[in-house]
Amino acid sequence: MADTKIDLQQGDITKVETDAIVNAANSSLLGGGGVDGAIHRAGGPAILEECKQIRARQGGCPTGEAVITTGGNLPARYVIHTVGPIWHGGSKDEPALLANCYKNSLRLATEKQLQSIAFPNISTGVYGYPKDKAAQVAVQTVKDYLQQHDTSLQRVVFVCFDSENKRLYEEMLKD
Ligand code: ADP
Repeated sequence: MADTKIDLQQGDITKVETDAIVNAANSSLLGGGGVDGAIHRAGGPAILEECKQIRARQGGCPTGEAVITTGGNLPARYVIHTVGPIWHGGSKDEPALLANCYKNSLRLATEKQLQSIAFPNISTGVYGYPKDKAAQVAVQTVKDYLQQHDTSLQRVVFVCFDSENKRLYEEMLKD
């Protein structure tokens, strides 16, 4: 809805007190480095346990899709694990796949009737997506989703780990 607030924050997403935080996972759902490692470290073993159950049911998570687990020991009640695309130069459908990450995460949060969600800068770490292009997709996709769907969400937060992403998002959210 038009009255959902979009906020910007710099820092560690594991400390953020939204109903859900989003994890930039990999398709195995078994954990990794970067934000994925930080979330599993801070959230404890309950998150990995649920990821393993999901994996047993559906065999991991394809790129662009999302699954939801408990937040374990995190301040957030839920973690939404989504798998960003690896950047291959832009001709392998990367923008649409990255947009799907944001859409499917927002859809899961809405299905759970959550009021707030926080996103990291999906794919801009090890997966190598150019930060400016990724920020554009993230901001546009979230804005479009909120305009086009009835949602329980009152607040969407972009959590930037580094100052370059912070600057890019600031620029993009100016108006
Ligand atoms: P990907 O494989 O999707 O690129 P990464 O975890 O390598 O995932 O990086 C995604 C983004 O998350 C990067 O911008 C990285 O700087 C950021 N990041 C890493 N640790 C954290 C954290 N604790 N909180 C928020 N963002 C983080």
